[in-house]
Amino acid sequence: AEEVGGGDKEVVREYFNNNGFERWKKIYGETDDVNRVQLDIRIGHSKTVENVIKMLTDEGPLNGVTVCDAGCGTGCLAIPLAKEGAIVTATDISAAMVAEAEKQAREELLTGKDELSPAPVMPKFEVKDLESLEGKYDTVVCLDVLIHYPQSKADGMIAHLASLADKRLLLSFAPKTLYYDLLKRVGELFPGPSKATRAYLHAEADVERALRKVGWRIRKRGLITTQFYFSRLIEAVPA
Ligand code: SAM
Repeated sequence: AEEVGGGDKEVVREYFNNNGFERWKKIYGETDDVNRVQLDIRIGHSKTVENVIKMLTDEGPLNGVTVCDAGCGTGCLAIPLAKEGAIVTATDISAAMVAEAEKQAREELLTGKDELSPAPVMPKFEVKDLESLEGKYDTVVCLDVLIHYPQSKADGMIAHLASLADKRLLLSFAPKTLYYDLLKRVGELFPGPSKATRAYLHAEADVERALRKVGWRIRKRGLITTQFYFSRLIEAVPA
């Protein structure tokens, strides 16, 4: 049952179209109806988004830069990227997520605010799994999606994302260190009601090796942690 592209992927799609959609829409949103853990994850995730925007804009303005946001969720990254002037393609395996992202983008991007600044380009939203993404983008970003891929499938997924990127690839994942590995094992002994899908942690060395195999190297690293959220963020470039 570890197959992404087989059974696992269907489970993930189903989850993010139903319970997972409701749960993550709330966490990624702004409403007060979140518990302490969800609020902590919200804060951690928004730090990841901030870090990504910073890593990307450090190299220069994003005006006209093409970006693919693979596994875009509710659009937490796609929308601020569009505000920065990027030409964004945002895709997700879940139709519910894509519809929500599109709705939020319309609300935030099309309500003509400042007439002096150029209007942002609406991201192009598509229901698509990562494996069927095609084309070339200056930058490819994939945040907090690897958690649904066992390492055996992660290598192929990373290689595919790198093949779509001309200049850089940003990835975030739950780091597999001894400590977090233990935490996760304890979590599996006491599964909560919200644990509907399996979570896979990744060792940074494994991700780095997968990138090296296809001729990419890691240029920047970040680590975002709160009490219940941990994410390793890396920026890779052609070696
Ligand atoms: N990247 C978004 C963010 O950081 O705000 C969402 C992260 S959410 C934890 C994981 C997302 O990955 C979900 O929206 C889910 O539907 C999507 N996803 C999972 N497996 C996928 C796949 N194989 N192809 C495309 N999207 C996938």
